[in-house]
Amino acid sequence: VRVGILGGGQLGRMLALAGYPLGLQFRFLDPAAGAPAGHLAELTNADWLDREALTRFADGLDVVTYEFENVPVDAVEMLAELVPIHPGARALRVAQSRLEEKSCFTRLGIDTASFQPVESRAELTDAARSIGLPAVLKTQRLGYDGKGQAVLRADDELDPAWASLGGGSVPLILEAFVPFQRELSIIAVRSSAGGEDRERTGGRDETAFYPLVENVHRSGILHRSIAPAPRVDARLRERADAYATRLLDELDYVGVLALELFQEGDRLLANEMAPRVHNSGHWTIEGAATSQFENHLRAVLGLPLGATAAIGASAMINLIGASPPLPELLRIPEAHVHVYGKSARPGRKLGHVTLHAADAESLVRPLQELERLVARS
Ligand code: AMP
Repeated sequence: VRVGILGGGQLGRMLALAGYPLGLQFRFLDPAAGAPAGHLAELTNADWLDREALTRFADGLDVVTYEFENVPVDAVEMLAELVPIHPGARALRVAQSRLEEKSCFTRLGIDTASFQPVESRAELTDAARSIGLPAVLKTQRLGYDGKGQAVLRADDELDPAWASLGGGSVPLILEAFVPFQRELSIIAVRSSAGGEDRERTGGRDETAFYPLVENVHRSGILHRSIAPAPRVDARLRERADAYATRLLDELDYVGVLALELFQEGDRLLANEMAPRVHNSGHWTIEGAATSQFENHLRAVLGLPLGATAAIGASAMINLIGASPPLPELLRIPEAHVHVYGKSARPGRKLGHVTLHAADAESLVRPLQELERLVARS
């Protein structure tokens, strides 16, 4: 069975690593020649919209999926004529635009910060007045890892933020600033189970949820995830699962879907979704019965899903911009080190380390040690 993956970054690489034990083969498409997945599998280097290259890429594939959500929707639609592709173009389109995404949340009764599209300087003034400050101004498209956004705390910050985000030439969105207590994420997976499997599940698609994860961001980039998140009661858990289920249903979704959430008191507000495997799910490689990567592959191939329960406790830390020496990381007995094979650059995710132990208490000391090493690097 041969799986095609759009995007050849670390997420693609980890998908391939999860798929090899199942006997799967991989082919990647990425415009970048040095894409990390190229170390492991066939890599087609071409523009997303090169029809001839897409045809060559699709030849002999059983299914196509992606690890990068800014693949042009046109490329996905072209490929969909040649080979099954999951998740579908619609999920991708919604996830690519913060405005469509938030409108979708609102339509589905998923709580989210108040927001307003901003296309002119005058609209920014209006939006800041009706939403109030502090607020967060973001580009509607192509924002990631804290890029393409600015926090507005006072009126005199509107002009510089408008200029730095390219206001007027790209559409923006203003969101209320959420004074959250913490950030959480939920990772859900739904299989396209057809045929026999549909019988086994009583005609329904198979859906599973990983436990909620607690995340800490620094400069808009994920720094740390703790899984399972501490202090999660049944109500919170059910609310997060319900949000994810509404999105899966609405988007006819197949594969792994991640939803980033803010917890503010009793409220759970959706921030954004990712139609792919997610950095806050890397802990599942060591810390869950089945990893998000394997379950994504099972899902897009219509195979039965694996169990999503956490085994013990995990803490994941990203290696961003620089990495401590490997021997020092490996000296921590609980550490599982993942290095992506990318060249170092400020703000770039070069790898991650997951600490895994029987219980959260056992992670306190190794986590302090790992934080110290990462801070020094
Ligand atoms: P995003 O690119 O939307 O995931 O934002 C990156 C990070 O910025 C989030 O994980 C939060 O830590 C912070 N952030 C984004 N939007 C808001 C908001 N409306 N209120 C408070 N913090 C936010």
